[in-house]
Amino acid sequence: MTFADFSLDADILKSVLEAGYTTPTPIQQEAIPLILEGRDLFGCAQTGTGKTASYMLPLLSKLQSGRVRARMPRALVLTPTRELALQVQEGAARYGKYTKFGVVTLIGGESMVLQEKELKKRVDILIATPGRLLDLLERGSIMLGALEFLVIDEADRLLDMGFIPDVEKIVAKTPQARQTLLFSATVSPAVRKLADRFLTDPAQVTVTPKEVSAQTIEQSVVMVSARGKQKALRHYLEQEKPSAAIIFCNRKTEVSRLSADLIKRGYSASPIHGDLTQSQRRETLDAFKEGKVTLLVASDVAARGIDVADLPFVFNIGLPINPEEYVHRIGRTGRAGRSGRAVSFVEPSEEKLLKALEKLLGKELDRVAFEDGDAKEEAAPAPKKQRTSKRASPKASAPEPQEAAPEPVQEVPAASPAPKQPRTRSKATPSARHAPKAPVMGFGDSVPAFFSIAFTDVGQATPTKGDEAS
Ligand code: AMP
Repeated sequence: MTFADFSLDADILKSVLEAGYTTPTPIQQEAIPLILEGRDLFGCAQTGTGKTASYMLPLLSKLQSGRVRARMPRALVLTPTRELALQVQEGAARYGKYTKFGVVTLIGGESMVLQEKELKKRVDILIATPGRLLDLLERGSIMLGALEFLVIDEADRLLDMGFIPDVEKIVAKTPQARQTLLFSATVSPAVRKLADRFLTDPAQVTVTPKEVSAQTIEQSVVMVSARGKQKALRHYLEQEKPSAAIIFCNRKTEVSRLSADLIKRGYSASPIHGDLTQSQRRETLDAFKEGKVTLLVASDVAARGIDVADLPFVFNIGLPINPEEYVHRIGRTGRAGRSGRAVSFVEPSEEKLLKALEKLLGKELDRVAFEDGDAKEEAAPAPKKQRTSKRASPKASAPEPQEAAPEPVQEVPAASPAPKQPRTRSKATPSARHAPKAPVMGFGDSVPAFFSIAFTDVGQATPTKGDEAS
């Protein structure tokens, strides 16, 4: 199957081919014809599956044949984070290269006055986080009365972040006759309820996320004491010398501390988390994407919105409380046909989280013991996959207590990157046992065979009693 097999508008097809896509990914194969047909859609897919193009291509195609209205957007994409909004904006620009659509992105942390100025120009496609959009709607700066398409992206994340009341208020300002597409990486009963509330007679397309993580990324767990995590990380950095890596921490204080420590030790590192300004976050991301910064130390705010094509490593300093967040974190690597590795530094007290994660993934993760003088043995050995211990240099890094609760990751700001060259003081070479065991694939020119797609027509969706009507 090729993109030419869809009835996409010629200008849209041209830009897709220019983007170098030859084969539609599974979600694209299923979703594009349904959206072109005019169906509402419930898409169960995470980022990294080609989800953005799966809705943006048919949406742009359909917009091509319609009437423009001043200050009245025809399509709205709601996202939980600014990063995802910016990623969607990039997609709209890439796929809409040969169209004249006005695309405006409304996110917190940026000047509302400038955004209001933007809204006075042509606005066909609006991409927004709920809080800022609601502010501008309430000020009368924009109206949604002519909306034809509504996309609710990462509905599970919108739920987790407490945005659903805002989403409901926004949806209430849109016409009933719109076409609605709702995407979610996970399908909890709460997400299902949202789908029932916002969608009419939806078709459902599912790309199983756990298969993505299980098959496309080599994952391992390093069992280490709480205070040995940073030392274990540095050991891996020196041994593997990744050209680029994201290091996830559970708390923003931890992000700041670790980033500062790495910079002090001569690494090219930069923090990204919710307390940085939007422009600082953008600068940091750009520096990372351009290779000016090698190590991005991140909180979960960065987990879903970052799309760096060539990211060989993701490290986790501790596991996230929500195992699904792990899938999103490691989904930053192994994208677009490239290989990826995810290494998590886990202390014995995180055993429960590890078990919950393995249950979600449906498999045991490879475990390595890291002996730093504190961690003597693995808390939960996995005999078959057990590997021998690694030994690190005797000097332990400053203790950093692990913080369990994830930070709130909405609308936030940061320090500008301090680009430095990665130091090359270690003589260690990547160990053979860390080489991927099998070719690791993302979504390049071919459709990965491991994807299982369940495509079911869920038929008439009955709104749940008592739910606010959309
Ligand atoms: P997304 O799931 O929307 O975050 O997309 C993940 C990555 O896959 C992005 O870098 C896209 O540019 C890329 N991509 C999307 N569709 C295709 C395709 N059919 N072929 C190759 N790459 C793609």
